[in-house]
Amino acid sequence: MLNIVLFGAPGSGKGTQSAKIIDRFGLHHISTGEVLRDHIRRGTELGKTADEYISKGQLIPDELMIEILDDVLDKEEAAKNGVVFDGFPRTIPQAEALKKLLAKRGTELHAVVGLEVPEDELVERMIARGKETGRADDNIDTIKKRLDVYHNQTLPLRDFYINEDKYLGIEGAGKVDDIFNDIVDQLLRKTGGDK
Ligand code: AMP
Repeated sequence: MLNIVLFGAPGSGKGTQSAKIIDRFGLHHISTGEVLRDHIRRGTELGKTADEYISKGQLIPDELMIEILDDVLDKEEAAKNGVVFDGFPRTIPQAEALKKLLAKRGTELHAVVGLEVPEDELVERMIARGKETGRADDNIDTIKKRLDVYHNQTLPLRDFYINEDKYLGIEGAGKVDDIFNDIVDQLLRKTGGDK
């Protein structure tokens, strides 16, 4: 079994590539953004709190986000067979917490797939996604804030995982299938073909 973090800026293709990785390796998908959007759709208290941060392009506070993930890992049985974490961790404290959350379940993180996409392409992709899906935070003002947050709070994780020898850098601009093939090659190399 594998636990993988899919890492990258907003708009880098995490959702698209997650779906393909899950199919290929039989893993469970946890997107913290999707978990939060589901709460917003259902109008829960947590959804109301989350919406205040998401609509400003800010991160949900670490403590709350870690609690939510802990809960999702307990409730979603399929997580025991290996997970693709999409959108988590986004800060160093979240990365430290992920290590503990997995250790307490007798497992660990095997690899971090980092999708590396030039900034102008990220903006274009998010604008297009906003038009197609109506996703509320895919508007130019919020996109700019999310990219700032990414640079300041999330990008330091790249070095964090390079130091842990878990980071696989992937050229994330180009054709979806070519990017995916590169991910599979690098993952198999890293994990010795272990499923
Ligand atoms: P995403 O769908 O991953 O782009 O996430 C959309 C929004 O949800 C982000 O801009 C954050 O406001 C919030 N969010 C998702 N994951 C996290 C996380 N791990 N930590 C804090 N906020 C998050």
